[in-house]
Amino acid sequence: MSSRELAKINEAQKAILEKHMSTFPVKLGQLARELGVSIKVSSMRSGISGQIARIDGEYTVRVNRNEARERQRFTIAHELAHFLLHRNIIDTSPDGITDNVLYRSGEPDRIEYEANRLAADIVMPMALIEEELRTKFRGTINEAAIESLAAHFEVSKAAMEIRLSTFAEA
Ligand SMILES: [Zn+2]
Repeated sequence: MSSRELAKINEAQKAILEKHMSTFPVKLGQLARELGVSIKVSSMRSGISGQIARIDGEYTVRVNRNEARERQRFTIAHELAHFLLHRNIIDTSPDGITDNVLYRSGEPDRIEYEANRLAADIVMPMALIEEELRTKFRGTINEAAIESLAAHFEVSKAAMEIRLSTFAEA
C-alpha cells in the first residue's frame, strides 16, 4: 500500500508519478523533467542534503554532490515530494526549502514526515517491491533480500530495511 500522501496529489501529476513507479530503478531525472522540475547536482555545504526553490521562475532541486548516489536519489525524491505537496511553502520563501542530513528544514515535522513518506513511495514503489520479494525471495525478508532489493532500486540498505519493516507489521 502507498502512503496517504499519494492520494493528495492532483490527477495529472499522479499519472506521471504512477507511470514512473511501474519500473525500477525509478528514473528520477525523467520524472522530474515531466513534472517541470530541474535537478542540479551541486556543491553544497556539508550537513545539507538538498534544496528545492523557485529560481528565475523555475522549480529547481539541488542535491549535494558529496553524498552517496543512493542518498542523492532519496534526497531528489524528498525534494520532489515537497514540490508535489508543499508548493505553497516553496513559493512563499525566497530560498524555498533546504533540508539538512536528517531531512529537517525548519518547517514543522509533519511537513518532513509527509515528504519522507512520499519519497519512499517514489523510489521504492511498494507494488514492485512486493512482486520482487515474492518472485525472487519467496516472500522472505532476510539480509540477502534487503541487499538485493536495495541494489536493484538504487537506494541505501538502511532505506530498504525501513521500507520492508512496514511489511512485517502488516
Ligand atoms: Zn524536507
